[in-house]
Amino acid sequence: MTIRIMPIILAVACAGCLNLQQQRTPEEATMASLRDAYQNLRFPKSEYGGEAPRPEWWLCRPEEVADICLGVKKGRCEVIGQTAAGFPLFAVFYGQFDDGGPRQSTWAASSSSDAYECYYGKPEKQTIIWATGFHGAEPEGVVATLNMIQLLETGKDLRGRSYPKLLELIPQFRIIFLPCVNMDGRAISQDHLQGTDKVTFRKACQGEWLDGRPIEWRESKRYFPLPLDRVKHPGGYPNADGFNIMHDATPGNIRTPEARAMLALIERYAADFFFNGHSCEGKPFMIMPSEINYQAHVERGLELADAVNARLVEAGLRSGMPKKAPTRTINFNSLVSLTSGGLALANELNSWADSFDDMIEPNFIIMEVILESALEKPLADRSALVR
Ligand SMILES: [Zn+2]
Repeated sequence: MTIRIMPIILAVACAGCLNLQQQRTPEEATMASLRDAYQNLRFPKSEYGGEAPRPEWWLCRPEEVADICLGVKKGRCEVIGQTAAGFPLFAVFYGQFDDGGPRQSTWAASSSSDAYECYYGKPEKQTIIWATGFHGAEPEGVVATLNMIQLLETGKDLRGRSYPKLLELIPQFRIIFLPCVNMDGRAISQDHLQGTDKVTFRKACQGEWLDGRPIEWRESKRYFPLPLDRVKHPGGYPNADGFNIMHDATPGNIRTPEARAMLALIERYAADFFFNGHSCEGKPFMIMPSEINYQAHVERGLELADAVNARLVEAGLRSGMPKKAPTRTINFNSLVSLTSGGLALANELNSWADSFDDMIEPNFIIMEVILESALEKPLADRSALVR
C-alpha cells in the first residue's frame, strides 16, 4: 500500500522539557489527524439512532473508514484532502492511473476547440468515481463502499459474500472509491437509523432547532450554511461548518474543502461517471438526472436511472417504477459535467429497510447495471457531447 502523505516530524515535550523528535509513518500521521479532527467538532455525537445492534460487518465510523482504506493492497489509498473539521478524505484507486499530471487544456476550453482530447486524452478505460456518505447521517452508502473495497481486495465482502459478476466487470474500468465524503457529519451521527420514527429521523439527519423542532428536509436548504448557533444539533447532513456538500455548487464560490477536493479529483482523472450516494426513509431508487445539462447526458442519465430502478424492482427491493422524467435540481452533480464532461447520478438507499443487507444491496446492483451498460455504450460519450 502506498499513500501520498509526507511524513511529519512530531515534537513531543516530556516532563523534563526535553524535545524528542519522533518520526511517524504516513499511516500513523493520518490516524493522528483523524483523532485530532474529533477535537475540532463543535457538536457531540447525536443521540438519535436505531436501537438494533449493528452487524459486525456494518463498518461506517471514521476510524473504520480509515482502517479499511489504509489497509488496501490491490488498490491504492490516497488522502485527497481534509474535511472542514480536519478529517482525512480517503480515496481508493483500482486500475492504472498514470495520467494525473496537469492537462494541456480544460474540459470547458477543449470541448469548444477542435480537439477535446487536449483535455480528455485517449484513455483505454472509462473512469468512474464512486462517492458515498455525502450526508453523514446516511451510513448505508459508506457501509456498501467499504464492503465493495473488501470484495475487490479479497474476493469476498465483509459479510463473506462474493459478487462474481462485479469482480469480472470492475477491472474493465478505472474506479476511484470515496467511501465517506462527509466525515464530519459521520463522526457526529449514530451507526444507523433503522426503526426510528420520522421526527427522530429528521433530527438525526437535518438537525434540531434550539426549541426542539426538527429541521425539515427542504427547510434545511433555506440556509447555506446552517446557522450553527441556532441549533441544538445540526444532524449529520452538513459538514462541521454547517454546509450541505451536496449543494456546494456555486462556480467561483465553492464553500467546502470536501467539494473542492472532489472537483480537483474529477478534473485530474477526467471522470466519465460520478456516483453520488445517499439514503432516505423510503424505498431505494436512482434519482433521475437534472435537465440542466447536455441533452445527451440527460438522455443517457434517464436511460441508466430507469434501468437501475427496473433491476431494483426485479430484485424485490421496491415495487413501482419512479417516473422517467428529469428533475430541475442544481447540486454537486451539475458541476461534474462542467468539470470533466462526465455524467453524474445520485441514488437513495433505504435507511428503514427490514434488514441491514437490504439497506446496502441496491448499491451492488447499481454498480453492476451501470458497468454492464457502460460496456455497451460509453457513460459519457465526449464526441456526442461536442458535436
Ligand atoms: Zn443525502
